[in-house]
Amino acid sequence: MDPARPFEVIVVGGGHAGTEAAHAAARMGVRTLLLTQSLETIGQMSCNPAIGGIGKGHLVREIDAMGGVMGRAIDRAGIQFRCLNHRKGPAVRATRAQADRALYREAVRHELDALEGLQLFQDSVQDLIVEQGEVCGVVTGMGLSLRAQAVVLTVGTFLGGRIHVGDHSHSGGRAGDAPSNALAARLRELPLRVGRLKTGTPPRIDAGSIDYRQIGEQPGDDPVPYFSRWSRRDEHPRQVACHITHTNEATHAIIRDGLHRSPMFSGEIEGTGPRYCPSIEDKVVRFADRNAHQIFLEPEGLGSREVYPNGISTSLAYDTQVALVRSIQGLENAHITRPGYAIEYDYLDPRDLQPHLESLHLPGLWLAGQINGTTGYEEAAAQGLLAGVNAAARVQGESSWVPGRHEAYIGVLADDLTTRGTREPYRMFTSRAEYRLQLREDNADLRLLPVAYRYGLISEAAWADFEAYREGIETERVRLERTWVKPGDLGDDAGASLLGQPLRREQTLMTLLRRPEMDYLTLMQLPGGGPGPADPRIREQLVIEARYAGYLKRQTDQVARSERSEHLRIPQDLDYQSVAGLSAEVREKLLSHRPATLGQAARIPGITPAAVSLLLVHLRRDT
Ligand code: FAD
Repeated sequence: MDPARPFEVIVVGGGHAGTEAAHAAARMGVRTLLLTQSLETIGQMSCNPAIGGIGKGHLVREIDAMGGVMGRAIDRAGIQFRCLNHRKGPAVRATRAQADRALYREAVRHELDALEGLQLFQDSVQDLIVEQGEVCGVVTGMGLSLRAQAVVLTVGTFLGGRIHVGDHSHSGGRAGDAPSNALAARLRELPLRVGRLKTGTPPRIDAGSIDYRQIGEQPGDDPVPYFSRWSRRDEHPRQVACHITHTNEATHAIIRDGLHRSPMFSGEIEGTGPRYCPSIEDKVVRFADRNAHQIFLEPEGLGSREVYPNGISTSLAYDTQVALVRSIQGLENAHITRPGYAIEYDYLDPRDLQPHLESLHLPGLWLAGQINGTTGYEEAAAQGLLAGVNAAARVQGESSWVPGRHEAYIGVLADDLTTRGTREPYRMFTSRAEYRLQLREDNADLRLLPVAYRYGLISEAAWADFEAYREGIETERVRLERTWVKPGDLGDDAGASLLGQPLRREQTLMTLLRRPEMDYLTLMQLPGGGPGPADPRIREQLVIEARYAGYLKRQTDQVARSERSEHLRIPQDLDYQSVAGLSAEVREKLLSHRPATLGQAARIPGITPAAVSLLLVHLRRDT
């Protein structure tokens, strides 16, 4: 690295947000530096060795469509893949993969090393260079002052990190890594709101000490799913099974007996933990009537003897952890290789960010990942991508990319964070997206690849391949809409056996595809039907389009309606007292936030849909 030659974008942190941010900025042709505490931990999974799942798998597909790293990395590192919610509708279907930690790190590093214009450097950032209210560089632990037009901070759980195991606690960024205390202190001096959150991880277990004969096996899917549209179909490593066991009454009694030494219950930890990923002690207290909780035993890698017991995240004292683990079927002789722990850390209130993740009060500074109050690799990676694209766009004088809530889960995530903020670690769910029928895993590329191409994130060859795919869908759609099947084309018996019932009047193949019992292969057997497109993704798109046409149309109309009111401007001097019907509480909230548009007003916590309607009526009357 040549400190005399300034970078255009500096990304701080080599976790999931940082690697996507650096990758995106460098792909866009901007001179980028990825500065991180340890090059060995680039792409490290701090907790669960898994990527994807409901809501999260959607984010991975979107990152992939934007040319990002995560989908390709997990395809090369995944040792068990499953499609969750397979029997439910396409909107909530989600891919999840168990990862080999070491292979995942290698795959991420491989993606970064392949990029020209990206330099990696190992050092710790201790300070930001702020001139005339703008961030224009960083100062490292070695004393280097490095300048750039944009700084993207993605330091995860490291700011003022404190690790707790029972009544013991010490400083740390995560197990084995130093915290970022100097940077945390500096950030508290700047005009940024700082809060405290916590998260936790389970103990790890030596696979050789588990009695697998006593517990159930869970194999992956066959054929094995893929995350990335760019992966070759032979890139997965060897696939393995996971196992399932359960806690029991004895486990719960051990936990209750150990609660007095738990930092969460003694008041030692002040930060709020993830509601949807609670510790086992939390679950036992909150769901006192449950006498068992499921535990997935997930291998940490093909060459690793360690197992991750998913479901027993804990910060109970070490001796309690040993007893609770050994009370579980199959784990009676378990040897713990690393204790579970909780970590408390600083996060910065994401309401101080613009929707493209640049700081409202410190231009030149972008924030992404766990530092913004989220939890999860996918949420971090999605923000990293957004921040990286926008930091590079700023350098290039391009306009920012702010995906709408109807365009991408990345848009839902950024909008939720920057308008509502969060008081607990935020994770993605499909239920957070009001237009989820449009935001499916299967159409992430159709939604976002044109954006990726516009920003220079994908190659010409990749674009040509995508265009051929899009044209394939269009050509087939036209063919299905123009090919008619007449009752006389099929004998009654043949018709009944293919269609489930005789055909009474002439219909197009597209109309026939709407029948719930009709599948593509059957359709192709009808006169004029076949052979159809060879690409199964084209067939899948048309089946979904045909089946959900009514719902999709309704959602598109809703989007158009809400777009109109979303951008309806609210005068900054509006007298909320004159808006009939608003409660005193709602008036107070609107006065303190002074939203610029009706869309922003609707997303202020505590502003009800009824209040938004009253405001809408008032604004329409006055305009
Ligand atoms: P990280 O992955 O933490 O990466 C931060 C990077 O910044 C690291 O490379 C670090 O070395 C670098 N860095 C830090 N400070 C500096 C500095 N001053 N200068 C240079 N580099 C710096 N997620 C879940 O979804 N479910 C869970 O149950 C869960 N449990 C967790 C339990 C624990 C104990 C921990 C630590 C994390 C857990 N997570 C969990 C969260 C998950 O690990 C994070 O959401 C994700 O890793 C965040 O990605 P990130 O890129 O924001 O930060």
